[in-house]
Amino acid sequence: HAKENGRNQLFFFEPQMQQTLKRRQQMELALKQALVKQEFQVFYQPKVNTFGTIIGYEALIRWQHPEFGLVSPDSFIPLAESTGLIIDIDSWVLENACQQINKLSSQGQALSIAVNVSQRQLARKDFVELVSNIVVASGIDPTLLELEITESMLNDDLENTRKKLDALSQLGILFSLDDFGTGYSSLYYLQKLPMNVLKIDQSFVRAFLTQETDYAIVKTIIAMAKALSLKVVAEGVEQQEQYEALIALECDFFQGYLFGKPAPLV
Ligand code: C2E
Ligand code: MG
Ligand code: MG
Ligand code: MG
Repeated sequence: HAKENGRNQLFFFEPQMQQTLKRRQQMELALKQALVKQEFQVFYQPKVNTFGTIIGYEALIRWQHPEFGLVSPDSFIPLAESTGLIIDIDSWVLENACQQINKLSSQGQALSIAVNVSQRQLARKDFVELVSNIVVASGIDPTLLELEITESMLNDDLENTRKKLDALSQLGILFSLDDFGTGYSSLYYLQKLPMNVLKIDQSFVRAFLTQETDYAIVKTIIAMAKALSLKVVAEGVEQQEQYEALIALECDFFQGYLFGKPAPLV
């Protein structure tokens, strides 16, 4: 349409585009107020070992808006990133996760919690201070906190990123590479960064029992992780047969609807 309309016509005058833009602006405004209005909630999804015992949780944010309903993080995290709101949101999630670690510890359960880090947060000069301040203030055992980073966040300034991760590793915090296999040149990052855990992206797990290529990829990622002394988590495990096949491939930990959907921790 844009071409037909001619060069001088701005594309967002198309009603549909305008609608999208308007919705985005509404969304942005609502997102700005969501923290104060307490519309966010942190859900926790269990990770289990080969015996099915829960060894930890991943913190996953939820946004319940009175008008938009339940908004998926996949749709509002990018918006939060582009507006900078993600910094406050991620700090809030991290505080919540640390409180949960304390709560579990007080119940005699020394379980780890993994928190997703955003690109914008990691890129901040004061990332190390941001995280360590929250961790120290909470009084948690830092070895119970795991930060999840994706390959796509590691494009630029790897040396700087390495310094940041090293500093937090010194405190005892663990790092995992999330959505592994979906980004670029992962092996280089594994060599350079203080990683502890690889999380096989659920897109490989989904059909690995029927797709030969996916099976080969899953098998190879697990073998490589072992060779590098990393723990491996398979994401998106939904069927018992997948669980058993992954155990046979010597995968360490498992996360997926088979063991539990993300839910509030009580
Ligand atoms: P992720 O970190 O890779 O999280 C795993 C996603 O897979 C979650 O989606 C989870 O609900 C979903 N999942 C878990 N098991 C299964 C399964 O068996 N089948 C299927 N189909 N899906 C499963 P969710 O909660 O919608 O989060 C999407 C993404 O949003 C996350 O991907 C993460 O990148 C981001 N995210 C979530 N919470 C936060 C947060 O607090 N901060 C930041 N920066 N990002 C977050
Ligand atoms: Mg994650
Ligand atoms: Mg993932
Ligand atoms: Mg993901």
